[in-house]
Amino acid sequence: MTTYVYDFSEGGRDMAGLLGGKGANLAEMARMGLPVPPGFTVTTEACRIFLATGQAPEGLDRQIGEHLATLERAAGKRLGQVDDPLLLSVRSGARFSMPGMMETILDIGLNDLSVLGLAKTPERERFAWDSYRRLVQMFGSTVMGVDGSHFEAAIVAVKQQHSRGDDTQLDTCDLIRIVETFKDLIHERTGEEFPQDPAEQLRRAVLAVFTSWNGERARLYRRREHIPDDLGTAVNIQTMVFGNLGPDSGSGVAFTRDPATGRPGVYGDYLPNAQGEDVVAGIRNTVPLQDLAGLDPASFARLRGYMDRLEAHYRDLCDIEFTIERGTLWMLQTRVGKRTAQAAFAIASQLADEGLISEREALGRVGGEALARLMFPRFATTDSSEVIARGVPASPGAAVGAVVFDSAEAVRRAAAGEKVVLVRQETTPDDLPGMVAAQAVLTSRGGKTSHAAVVARGMGTVCVCGAEGIVVDTRQRRFSAGGVTVPEGTVVSVDGSEGVVRLGSVSLVDSDVMRYFEEGGVLPADGAARQPVRDVHRLMRQADAVRGLEVRANADTPEDAARARRFGAQGIGLCRTEHMFLGDRRPLVEAVILAHGDTEREAALAALLPLQRQDFTGILEAMDGLPVTVRLLDPPLHEFLPDRTELAVRLARGEALGTPADPHDTELLAAVTRMHEENPMLGLRGVRLGLVVPGLVAMQVRALAEAVVARKRAGGDPRAEIMVPLVDAVEELHLVREEVDRVLAQVSQETGIDVTCPVGTMIELPRAALTAGRIAKEAAFFSFGTNDLTQTTWGFSRDDVEVAFFSAYLDKGVFPVSPFETIDREGVGRLVRIAVEEGRAARPDLKIGVCGEHGGDPASAHFFHGAGLDYVSCSPFRVPIARLEAGRAALEANGTDASAQPPHRAARGRGEPRRHGPVPAAAAG
Ligand code: ADP
Ligand code: MG
Ligand code: MG
Repeated sequence: MTTYVYDFSEGGRDMAGLLGGKGANLAEMARMGLPVPPGFTVTTEACRIFLATGQAPEGLDRQIGEHLATLERAAGKRLGQVDDPLLLSVRSGARFSMPGMMETILDIGLNDLSVLGLAKTPERERFAWDSYRRLVQMFGSTVMGVDGSHFEAAIVAVKQQHSRGDDTQLDTCDLIRIVETFKDLIHERTGEEFPQDPAEQLRRAVLAVFTSWNGERARLYRRREHIPDDLGTAVNIQTMVFGNLGPDSGSGVAFTRDPATGRPGVYGDYLPNAQGEDVVAGIRNTVPLQDLAGLDPASFARLRGYMDRLEAHYRDLCDIEFTIERGTLWMLQTRVGKRTAQAAFAIASQLADEGLISEREALGRVGGEALARLMFPRFATTDSSEVIARGVPASPGAAVGAVVFDSAEAVRRAAAGEKVVLVRQETTPDDLPGMVAAQAVLTSRGGKTSHAAVVARGMGTVCVCGAEGIVVDTRQRRFSAGGVTVPEGTVVSVDGSEGVVRLGSVSLVDSDVMRYFEEGGVLPADGAARQPVRDVHRLMRQADAVRGLEVRANADTPEDAARARRFGAQGIGLCRTEHMFLGDRRPLVEAVILAHGDTEREAALAALLPLQRQDFTGILEAMDGLPVTVRLLDPPLHEFLPDRTELAVRLARGEALGTPADPHDTELLAAVTRMHEENPMLGLRGVRLGLVVPGLVAMQVRALAEAVVARKRAGGDPRAEIMVPLVDAVEELHLVREEVDRVLAQVSQETGIDVTCPVGTMIELPRAALTAGRIAKEAAFFSFGTNDLTQTTWGFSRDDVEVAFFSAYLDKGVFPVSPFETIDREGVGRLVRIAVEEGRAARPDLKIGVCGEHGGDPASAHFFHGAGLDYVSCSPFRVPIARLEAGRAALEANGTDASAQPPHRAARGRGEPRRHGPVPAAAAG
């Protein structure tokens, strides 16, 4: 018989896969002797079976019954008993934390009779009816599917009728009336009575939590966080404790360090006389956790003690939920807390300083995605734009956008390409789509632990919350702040690091971290470097010390090459030559294409030669002493000609007007028509061009060889390599190599300077990967062009498929992340492994790298490390990210990776394209 239920005393933190994060950590706290209300956990496996079959697994009911009986015995009271009943919470909790995305139902066990028993004394009457009210409301919406707004409307109606200001002013009579209204509502809407049988309440609540795994917001959240859809959630069934029993009770959340900056100390929010869910909902304003020291010194001291123990135990920032019932402290949840990028680096560094973790583990605690975020620009401090609001700096960064007042509008405008800032009094889980769409979230209520803050921080979206000076008027679609009225559509700048909002679009400057890299990655000698630069420096050094992968850059100009070098690149893995044919050189390329006969073509190529030589000389100089891999011309030639339709229209118009056609245009149109391809991606390009356009390879090789000579004469150390694109068959490579060798020999002879360049190939077609053993005989190196390799392996034309149906594919779970973003290990990755293995078997000293965007993707870097590559090459701005991830990959391979992240979580910067990313999305390889 499978065990589907584990008592808290049977679990532990290493069982998160089965018990969910919440269940595993509740068990861990119980095991540590912390005061956790007793309970048990239903496994994710049970949930998976339920989701697959529509039925709870055989034996689940019985196992729950047995554990419940044990719980009842220990508590000395029973579920549903009429006097002083046992009440339960039924809480969702998946493997990876999904705050607020699934359902939790509190106060299970109350009914028309036991509510009277809970009341016991007159002072507790209000509390009892408030609890019953909460149960009927949560159960009605979550389990029975009644739209939550009906319940809220009913409360508002009672409040208005009796002129009650807020929920706390509702008295027992009001609450009794509300409960009756709620029950009627449920009956009206569902044709069913609110179940009075506590056992039925419990059973249905468990199934509802299972079902909430597939709720809309849970799915959206998972897609965004790259959490697999098939994990399922565990369900925790736990004895209720009450924070709403009076002023000596309350609920709060605590962080062992500041999740925004990483600073050690006491951070959190506390709400006296409240249940836990009131704290995050932002319905009432919380007080800072420090205030608890005055309100209840004994509980505060105990909490501090537990916080220290938890941090020492988990050796990381912990995020804690607690409730105080009549002066008794109960721990309701802990987990390794989400944090900002800056805090991630700061905390890793501090914990290493404190000796809690090793330097290596510290590296495991940060990631390329966080580093990328620290490289984003920030607002110029010199900007004097008007500050219209100040709030809590809940999630750092700089965002500019038009204000919108609801989620739907945010989604609408963002889809149309507009940058928006979502402004709400407070956010709820229903605002998730808008928060995903927005550049920043601004709320007038709630602290660092409010829904807005927690979710925005998790997504890396800028957030300022609790800006109490603003008044949000959702109906009129505007907010006012200190006398200024800001209607929908107004552009504001939100500074999530400082917690301020300015009117208009504030200018941006480089971040300190970006400046540090631009200055070559050295700290100022006076030790004046600010956080997080010092932390970044420390962890980069660690990464460089342990990594096995070299990091090169994709750079086509001397400027990019120089920057890449400052950022720590160890050479150029891909120097594309196509841009060297564009701009004012385009007519020269046209001349090559239109040439009548060899002489004309040779003359046209000869005109290009000195220009190419000059480009190469500059790049070799910038990368002196380091390898520079030059790729021969790759794109189809018609890309250098004008657009066919445009030309045809121009000619037709001329004809209609009776003006004589420009013969050059006529000739061009003929050429464009001749070269038109239905599928240019699969047409005349890459090595094929070199083999059919006479003189093209010779010209490029000569230009490079002469650049090498020029650099050598200037006393430099040029290390040029020649890379042939889009090779399918070893014969192609062989033919090109003959030509290359001939030209190199010629140049050596002419100049008296020996020029040798290793010749290698890109592996970017399945056939090349599958015949890598043969190809390696002719190639000094391989460089995987994973972009084309992904296109040709999947049969995708990237430009066509990404917009057309990738979001549907992601929705349907065909893949958890685009294969263009993170390498598809099963398919494309398999080809890579085959090519590496067969290539090295044929030529043991074969140097193997990857160029193209995957080279700068954190998750892919780990794969390339494992596949035994020598280097990755990526855009200059991603070089630091690749260095860091290469270091982490080396540790991970040694089993030292301390991070507990979803498998694809390390994927390339969520939200990155939405900002002034330092990363141009160049489609390379
Ligand atoms: P989430 O994952 O959304 O945080 P939780 O399962 O933590 O959901 O529960 C929601 C709220 O209910 C929390 O604020 C929590 O503190 C409160 N809560 C859960 N279980 C109990 C309990 N046994 N006693 C009192 N409050 C509880
Ligand atoms: Mg919680
Ligand atoms: Mg390619």
